[in-house]
Amino acid sequence: MSEIDVEISEVGPRDGLQNTKQFMPTEAKKAWITAEAAAGVREIEVCSFVPPKLLPQFADANEVVAHALTIPGLAVAALIPNLKGAERAVAAGVHKLSFTISVSRAHSLNNVRKTPDEQLEEFRRIVTFLKTQPENRRAFLSGGLSTVFGCTLEGNIDEREVVRLAVALAEAGADDVSLADTVGYANPAQIKRVFSAVRREIGEKLTSAHLHNTRGLGLANAVAALECGVKTLDSSLGGLGGCPYAPGASGNIVTEDLVFMLEAMGLRTGIDLDKLLAVRRIIEEALPDAELYGNLAVAGLPKGFARIAA
Ligand code: ZN
Repeated sequence: MSEIDVEISEVGPRDGLQNTKQFMPTEAKKAWITAEAAAGVREIEVCSFVPPKLLPQFADANEVVAHALTIPGLAVAALIPNLKGAERAVAAGVHKLSFTISVSRAHSLNNVRKTPDEQLEEFRRIVTFLKTQPENRRAFLSGGLSTVFGCTLEGNIDEREVVRLAVALAEAGADDVSLADTVGYANPAQIKRVFSAVRREIGEKLTSAHLHNTRGLGLANAVAALECGVKTLDSSLGGLGGCPYAPGASGNIVTEDLVFMLEAMGLRTGIDLDKLLAVRRIIEEALPDAELYGNLAVAGLPKGFARIAA
């Protein structure tokens, strides 16, 4: 395991599909997860445990998780919106639960009809629930903050609120803490400032960054986050998902481009780029109307590119 410098957490099957209108057939979701794990991706957020009537895309969550759990060595992650979602995810056998608090009060009320502090209470209930599970099989609980760098409803976000909520998550029992640029507002200077401020308070608990490429700064922000000690980056194959608020804008940072950048910089991801690029075909065939992004898929690998992973 020590041969990895940066952990890539593929979130396309959750974040990407959450923002895709068309239902992706369950068999295609399974094929996507299988192929990406075979390319060397070691963690995949495979679904969200929201009520299926709110997001029909995830009506097959149990089946997708059951499949992902058969892949040796794969860490199976899922988004949980509340305690009920946590109970469903644990019953399904998910390894890593991702719970998110939106720092933006307006976004939080809009999304989950709760204030950030009410969401914090929900997080505490999830921690209490997890403590009832046998310690050796207890799921990893990741506490995330979203709209950290700006919000389509509120605009600027108070950085002191970010720090306060990150500390609260860590103290409430989060196994790690992640900061998200949900709508692609961040720039590298801001990333450095905010990640450093949170790190000063919670240290190594701050492990991961969730970045969107809505305004083209995703990879620059990824480098800035790495320079602040981040070890895990979320990304989505083909940048799938887009942004409901910005037509034509891509979604998460593109996994293929991110892996290419890291490997070119000499940072090992353990991922085979040729195999990774080939996974795009599964999405293209299953979701012919979905827009895929990414520069590497268009331009190809540079001549003489040294594959560190090989
Ligand atoms: Zn996202």
